Parts: sequence; structure tokens; C-alpha cells
Amino acid sequence: MNPGRRGMILILSSPSGAGKTTLTRMLMQDKALDLTLSVSVTTRTRRSSEVDGIHYRFIERREFERMKAEGDLLEWAEVHGNGYGTPLAPVEAVLAQGRDMLFDIDWQGAAQVRERLGDDVVSIFVLPPSMTELRARLERRAEDSAITIEKRLEAARHEIERWRNYHYVIVNDDLQRAYRDVLAIIAAERLKVRRVQAGVAPFVERLVHG
Ligand code: 5GP
Repeated sequence: MNPGRRGMILILSSPSGAGKTTLTRMLMQDKALDLTLSVSVTTRTRRSSEVDGIHYRFIERREFERMKAEGDLLEWAEVHGNGYGTPLAPVEAVLAQGRDMLFDIDWQGAAQVRERLGDDVVSIFVLPPSMTELRARLERRAEDSAITIEKRLEAARHEIERWRNYHYVIVNDDLQRAYRDVLAIIAAERLKVRRVQAGVAPFVERLVHG
């Protein structure tokens, strides 16, 4: 960790099933990366594999509307008929410590976060290798009904068209390679001069002037 560095917001977006959740898990398991995962709130029903407070905070629609109205959310969006949003307070706390935060949010949320936090944001779009593979992954996951899968595939086509709005794009045809690409992006972004200059300036001062 670099104590003089500004924290950054790392956004991973992709259609459901493109592997973003797996990449997120790999990133969070790598403790040396020291990433904090933003836990979103959602009005969606919990899947059997999910734990409240870890994957999402599952809340009622009324609570979601209250959080929106009171400015408790950094961003929010309606996805497949459910409300999703990022609680603002944890983001402010993590960035203030000069640490990085990982967001698994959709293109609508990514656009709002970029608008609000600009230079602190690094966004990556993860593409599936093909629509056939995307369908196969959704079916293998066996967590959604056939109708939901069709809805998600249709939504995926629209979501994919947003790829140009991101800083980086990765085709997830090989998970290990895709993961290495994400690591390379993080490593490079952490070394950006504008992010490290406050911490490096005193070092350079000593280096040059003894
Ligand atoms: P899922 O229901 O499959 O967990 O997520 C559906 C979509 O909602 C995914 O594209 C996911 O990235 C997005 N999503 C999850 N949390 C948030 C959030 O807090 N804000 C926004 N804008 N999108 C979210």
C-alpha cells in the first residue's frame, strides 16, 4: 500500500454471466491487492447462493426509495425491474484512507459514478466471448428461470453496446488471462503520477536535494 496515494474507484461492468462476479471474487481473495468491495443494496430477491450483507444488502422497495430521496446512494439504477444502488458513506470512508474500492455495477451506475467522482474512477468492461457462451453460462448457473435468462440475454445486448464508455475492455474468453489483464490495469493505474504525486513528491525532494 502506498500511504500517499489517492484511493481509486475500480468499476467492473458486464452483462450477467460474462464472468465479472468470478473476477470480483478472485480480486477480493488476493489480500495483497487490498481492495474493499462495495456492497450494493438491492430490492431483488436473494438467490440461494447469496448472503445478506456480503453479496448485497437486500432491502424493501420502500427503504430503497428512502435512501434515494435522502441522498444515501452514490448512484442507483433499475436493472431487470429491481432497484440497485451503492451506499455513499462506505465509499467516502475508504477513499479518505487512500484505499481502493471495487464496484460491480451496471453501465447506468458507472456513468453516474464517473460523473460524480471523475478522475478517481477507473472503469473496465468485461465482454463474453460470444452470446452462445453467455447463454450457456447463465444456464449452467441454474439460478434464474428460463424467462429471466431470456430477459438477461436481451438486456445483455443493450448493455454490451455501452462498452465504449469505459476506460478498458476485456474479452473474457480465458478467465486466467482476463484476470491477469485486470491486475495489469490496477498496477498501472496505481502508478499514475496524478494519483501518487502527493506521496512521491517528498521522496523526490530528498532524492534530488539530499
Ligand atoms: P444481479 O442481479 O445479477 O446480481 O445484478 C444485475 C446487474 O445489476 C449487474 O449488471 C450488476 O452489475 C448490477 N448492479 C449490482 N449492484 C449495483 C449497484 O449498486 N448499482 C448499479 N447501478 N448496478 C448494480
